[in-house]
Amino acid sequence: MSNPILLAPGPVQLHPEVQKILSQPMIHHRTPEFDSILKRVLENLKFLFQTNSHVYIHSSTGSGGMESLLVNTLSPKDRVLAIVSGKFGERWAEIATIYGAHVDRLNVPWGDSINPGQVEDYLNQHPDTKIVLCQACETSTATTHPIRQLGEIIAKTQALFLVDGITAVGAYPLQMDAFLIDGLVAGSQKGIMLPTGLSFVGLSAKTEKVMEKATTPRYYFDLSKEKKANQNGETFFSSSVSLIKALDFILLLLKTHGLEKHFADVKRRADFTRIMNAKLGLKLFSKSPSDSVTALLLPSTIDGAKFRTYLEDKYSVTVMGGQDQLKGKIIRIGHMGFILDDHLIETQFRLALALKDFNLLKDLDVNSYVNDCRKWLKDNPR
Ligand SMILES: *Cc1c(COP(=O)(O)O)cnc(C)c1O
Repeated sequence: MSNPILLAPGPVQLHPEVQKILSQPMIHHRTPEFDSILKRVLENLKFLFQTNSHVYIHSSTGSGGMESLLVNTLSPKDRVLAIVSGKFGERWAEIATIYGAHVDRLNVPWGDSINPGQVEDYLNQHPDTKIVLCQACETSTATTHPIRQLGEIIAKTQALFLVDGITAVGAYPLQMDAFLIDGLVAGSQKGIMLPTGLSFVGLSAKTEKVMEKATTPRYYFDLSKEKKANQNGETFFSSSVSLIKALDFILLLLKTHGLEKHFADVKRRADFTRIMNAKLGLKLFSKSPSDSVTALLLPSTIDGAKFRTYLEDKYSVTVMGGQDQLKGKIIRIGHMGFILDDHLIETQFRLALALKDFNLLKDLDVNSYVNDCRKWLKDNPR
């Protein structure tokens, strides 16, 4: 099958207008033309983050944004509580450890959501805690955490609540100010529907104060320098001109379309994926499934890693497999990016064919299944 479909939880399929913008001739970043784009983007990022605070742009992947939040707030030996419920939680705990923090890991079984009471107990026992780290959506298990409840608990203490929203910001409601988040990271190639290469960090007033005293050495990610540059209408280092121009388009699109409508579109894809895969016998892995990405358990009778590769090689559908303890056990289908109904139907069609090729679903009539898929989308319009 020819036309490839990319439904990974990042990078994601690009809007045709984004592809056009990325092919435009280069302009210099110290020009009035770019200055006015940057000004608008910095303003509209606040809208995306649902905050009155400044949101910073880094030319880095999402992990750079995670590191930035830590190096700007951490002093060596600070007590950090890391909620670890998958690969990305582990990564943030590792970064904090490397910078000399005293890190306690609160391990959550993969696929489970954190019980906020556990965090409350920890903070009661350890009032010297400076930072709490959590993913909004732990992408490796497609699981969401109760960020609003955690925010309420943590706001009563001196600790900063730093949230990795890389597969949440731009995909489902996560309001930085209303949820009492002190530091929020987003990434361009996931919820923000652009190519890889930008990360975004928003800091609350509480965090900006801590930042002034944080003693971790930093250079590239020094946000105080970046802030001064932004106040002069510039970025501190060279700007990622093309990506920021494309970002300008995405932010205007979200503003015109409305965040709520956009989130409803993403959720509709997640609902479709859950319901239509249940009909193929594929169950949800997560106990608190995210609307940005769905993890489906594969039948234990097949080699999941082989199946994923086969789906890509034979049917040109790219989804992600599982990592570490989930290797070969799940596939993860992303719902972020430029996804049309045809992509959704075609993905289910090819997935059904691939499962049949693996000697599963012997009784399934693929044509009538595809009709069911079409019908669901028609009955549940955007
Ligand atoms: C993808 C992802 C990251 C890492 O982002 P990179 O852009 O690969 O550095 C971190 N956290 C979460 C939740 C992610 O989904």
